[in-house]
Amino acid sequence: MNILNVVKVFMWRACHNALATKSNLQHPKITEDPLCPVCGIKVETTWHVLWSCPVAKDIWSRCNRKTQKSSVNQEEFMLIWEELLQHLNIEDMELMAVVARQIWFCRKAFVHGNKINSTINVVGSAEESLEAYQEVNSRKNEVAKRRNSQDLRWEAPKNDFVKVNWDAAVDLNRNKGRGDQKRWNGRGSGDFVIVKSLHY
Ligand SMILES: [Zn+2]
Repeated sequence: MNILNVVKVFMWRACHNALATKSNLQHPKITEDPLCPVCGIKVETTWHVLWSCPVAKDIWSRCNRKTQKSSVNQEEFMLIWEELLQHLNIEDMELMAVVARQIWFCRKAFVHGNKINSTINVVGSAEESLEAYQEVNSRKNEVAKRRNSQDLRWEAPKNDFVKVNWDAAVDLNRNKGRGDQKRWNGRGSGDFVIVKSLHY
């Protein structure tokens, strides 16, 4: 998937039920209240947080038509993700991954006393950040491709041949050229400077 590594890590944690939801924190008795702090109705599981909580539902409903039409009835986030993978294309899944992470941060902000901003903004900012990342990524790939195609590798000369690479600069006023030996590789080794007079 062409998404940030932090989003991949988030999705891996979501699918493996490794997010710090109340349900997951309940086992070591870290929290006594297992209910979702946003709706206060259901136990805060990964599935509820990212899929069935009214806030999550509202955000998904604004995401795109295909997501709206996906009637997934699983109660494990990994099963939901697997089912969606069968129906949606990779671009839709990439956006869904970014939106899922945005939902998580949206809730965290709410828990820390901030209001949940417009759910329209959540989807919009997810789309913008995904687009920006993919654009930068494709530029990087282009540059890397160009570099690779220009990467002329040095090869050792055959026996009885000497390879000389050199650059030269010409002083037009003094009619003299100066060449600097850049690399010497053959049998034996050494550095030297070539100085040659040019006559026009
Ligand atoms: Zn809820």
